[in-house]
Amino acid sequence: MTAYDANNIFAKILRGELPCYKVYEDEHVFAFLDIMPRVPGHTLVIPKVAARNILDIKPDDYAHVARGAHRIAAAAMKAFEADGITVQQFNEPAGGQVVFHLHMHVMPRHDGVAMLPPASRKEDDKVLREHAAKLTAALKAG
Ligand code: 5GP
Repeated sequence: MTAYDANNIFAKILRGELPCYKVYEDEHVFAFLDIMPRVPGHTLVIPKVAARNILDIKPDDYAHVARGAHRIAAAAMKAFEADGITVQQFNEPAGGQVVFHLHMHVMPRHDGVAMLPPASRKEDDKVLREHAAKLTAALKAG
């Protein structure tokens, strides 16, 4: 497997070198909106440790990401008045991975509404800002 590349986009976001719509952060994980959302509220949860994907992350660090996704899922249900949640996590190009810092996708779903294909379109900044604010508020409300 290819080694972790510290210059991947999400590593740069984590270091604050690139902007993002942050929704949550704790000691172990960082969460922000996908800028090409497959559904409104599409959020990415990443570990603070350097890990390419499930094949090189330590189990405890992976568990922290799952905890983060669990927290975002509950908040996203409220913030987006969702009917369900899709969680995805891709590994290596053959597994559908495009950005090589481990991430879990958390996507609020509505009955009868299909997800867009990956990377269909960049969402407007105004919409992303509004969605980040809604999700942040729901996370704070607990
Ligand atoms: P993967 O297929 O690796 O699981 O998905 C990578 C995700 O990263 C895609 O859903 C894509 O829309 C998202 N993405 C790509 N570039 C950026 C970026 O610069 N910022 C954010 N927030 N998301 C990105």
